[in-house]
Amino acid sequence: MAIIGIDLGTTNSSCGIWTPEGVKLIPNRLGDYLTPSVVGLDDSGNLSVGRIAKERLISHSDKTVAVFKRLMGTEHKIKIGNRFFSATELSAIVLRSLKEDAETFLGEPVVEAVISVPAYFNDNQRHATKMAGELAGFKVERLINEPTAAAIAYGLHEKQEGTFLILDMGGGTFDVSILEFFEGVMEVHASAGDNFLGGEDFVDAMVDDLLNQYSINRQSLAPAQLNQLLMQMETAKRRISSKALNPIQITLAGQQIDFQPDEAWFTKVVTPLLLRAKRPIERALNDATMSPQSIDDVVLVGGATRMGVFRSMIGRMFGRLPSCHLDPDCAIAMGAAIQAGLKAKDQALNDIVLTDVCPYTLGTDVVNESNNQGGYFLPIIERNSVVPISVTRRLVTVHDNQAQISVGIYQGENRLVNKNVFLGKVSIDIPKAPAGKEGVDVRYSYDMNGLLEVDVTVISTGKAVNKVIEHSPGALTAEEIEKSRQKLAALKFHPRDQESNRALIARGERLYESSLGEKRQQIAQLLADFDQVLERQNPPEIQKAAAQLETILNRLDNEEWF
Ligand code: AMP
Repeated sequence: MAIIGIDLGTTNSSCGIWTPEGVKLIPNRLGDYLTPSVVGLDDSGNLSVGRIAKERLISHSDKTVAVFKRLMGTEHKIKIGNRFFSATELSAIVLRSLKEDAETFLGEPVVEAVISVPAYFNDNQRHATKMAGELAGFKVERLINEPTAAAIAYGLHEKQEGTFLILDMGGGTFDVSILEFFEGVMEVHASAGDNFLGGEDFVDAMVDDLLNQYSINRQSLAPAQLNQLLMQMETAKRRISSKALNPIQITLAGQQIDFQPDEAWFTKVVTPLLLRAKRPIERALNDATMSPQSIDDVVLVGGATRMGVFRSMIGRMFGRLPSCHLDPDCAIAMGAAIQAGLKAKDQALNDIVLTDVCPYTLGTDVVNESNNQGGYFLPIIERNSVVPISVTRRLVTVHDNQAQISVGIYQGENRLVNKNVFLGKVSIDIPKAPAGKEGVDVRYSYDMNGLLEVDVTVISTGKAVNKVIEHSPGALTAEEIEKSRQKLAALKFHPRDQESNRALIARGERLYESSLGEKRQQIAQLLADFDQVLERQNPPEIQKAAAQLETILNRLDNEEWF
């Protein structure tokens, strides 16, 4: 009976199996190796997972959820339509979909899985991941740290010993881990990162620079317009070093824009982000008391490490080229699959975490100075910080004669507090004064047992209040597990054989929403024609029409807009 390895990722998940010929990645029902970790509900109450759900993320945001991995191990409930799910249950839904795909691909039942988790996941989060696997019908005896999986994919465990640096930059986060391999044990020696740095920030910086050049305020753009611009920039980012780099042509705020991005411009715009990426690398080296010269191998994973500027920077920092010949999106799944293969032979690698780290960012809500609006998240203790840790931040009043300061306590990785988990609140009276003249020192202390202590002290009077938050919600009881199991068993999923046609329609609808004018009409007509073919229920005709529609959508999706 097969054991598979799974990368249960924040944005995408994938899986693979060890075979005598090496690792084989497993395609999903649509033929893709990556399944977006997105779950959605459609109008008929059926659930879908992956690409179809992702296409509807913007247009049906109330019925589609993503990035729930960031809430793993919390009791936070996430709403889809009028139902609520925990991050564990949503992960179980993604895993169940991968399980079905693997069983179809392999033609046999898949009973067991090795699932990857970030190195900084604590016990609670690891337990939740295991539970998600079990709810999906897997036996999960082993989890694997993501950096360990990446190292194994590169065969580093076949060396006698070594020290490896694993850099994982995805769409929104950057994780840095230092691994030491000795006598068959892979140890996570240091772990650092930046929660607010990923490929999307590079696109944001490009967009901001262009808007600046044309004196356009980002806030003045309609969401669909901004989305179009982001998509064009995303394409430009991926092609920045190729000859096929088309101009950005778009009408924004009444201005006709014709902008030719090039490598020199890109490098200038993203240099501050590259400098930011250097910091956690230096921090991890420092924490492990190592120099760049003492690292035997540098491994790149995550889609954003494909950027040439990033690779060059790492090359300069370490005086040699990093290992990056495997697909950076699949390396973790490949490593998990190798570990699954080793486990089947009772030779699984031991993989331990040494550092105790805070698994989430802990912070408070503040008013953003540039737009004067509240609800922004100010990180105080960054995720991945080694515990015990105590950090103090000073907050000042925003209104004249403000009588009180309230400090909301949140955990999470979003820039907006309402997308993070609310843990509590501390309020304190302050002497009246002009805005900015009074304030408090907010100290967050986080210890080994997951206890968060918040002290708020008025600067001028020394008056203080304190709140302690027990930060590790209890594990599920047997009864709660059974309830989850029944809830998931009762869910209705879309029939597998119709998924590829539904994916085409969802993609067409997404394109329709982000287009205008003639192009929009053209897409509407294409979709209406396809609907008619589906109604006739003639399989060969459907197959032919689907292939034709896909070709046209590919062209429209890649076409430079307007
Ligand atoms: P992941 O979360 O690992 O799937 O990474 C997604 C991020 O990788 C996104 O921000 C993408 O823009 C970025 N990415 C994917 N392919 C490329 C590429 N060829 N060049 C630059 N960035 C890329």
